[in-house]
Amino acid sequence: MRLNIAIDGPVGAGKSSIADAVAQRLGILHLDTGAMYRALGLKALMTGTDLQDENAVTELCEKLDLDVGYGESGQRTMLDGKDVSGQIRTPEVSMAASTVSRYAEVRKMMVRRQQELAAKQDMLVDGRDICTTVLPNAPVKIYLTASSEERAKRRWKENREKGSAESYEEVLQAVIERDRQDMNRAVEPLRQAEDAILLDTTEMRFDEVVDAILRMAEEAKNGQ
Ligand code: C5P
Repeated sequence: MRLNIAIDGPVGAGKSSIADAVAQRLGILHLDTGAMYRALGLKALMTGTDLQDENAVTELCEKLDLDVGYGESGQRTMLDGKDVSGQIRTPEVSMAASTVSRYAEVRKMMVRRQQELAAKQDMLVDGRDICTTVLPNAPVKIYLTASSEERAKRRWKENREKGSAESYEEVLQAVIERDRQDMNRAVEPLRQAEDAILLDTTEMRFDEVVDAILRMAEEAKNGQ
């Protein structure tokens, strides 16, 4: 069986960095599916497409020249042949990604691409609907979360190190708003799959979370 590890969770739960570390330790690839919605959000912003216009955004997604590759520092997200891995990390693109990901046809196209990638190789896939929709049969399924305040604190520290002047309050508000949008959309809202293991990392150190997931992967490999 493929060793697919599926991780869902809200913004700032540490999915990306935890997933990177786990995938590296296991020697498998990490697919950050959020980057794909971000690339579509960026394309919509660049082309002045109305984010609220479902038909226009769906059409843009159909024609999207998007590629996911892997370099020395992990996943590279390519849009129209250009590496946009840095450009998709702005707060504006975060909200745009959350908005365009509400549309059913957009989700169908993205989910199909993600399933194709995961079928080809052992992979750790993180996002919002991986355990529920993309890889419901993955041998390891995790819902990674932490309190909103803790998630905002982590995100704020991370942004500050990158030179952002956003205040903690602003980051907390953005976290709450994106959670609200992601958890309340009509199509595939963010929720914990019934058979996913809940990992609340509010009180956990980074390495404790990584070790916990590695243990689950080991158990899955041994068929337990
Ligand atoms: O994980 P990240 O914060 O990069 O995701 C950006 C946005 O893309 C999320 O807020 C969410 O709306 C959307 N997303 C999604 N399904 C996924 C991954 C991300 O709807 N599997």
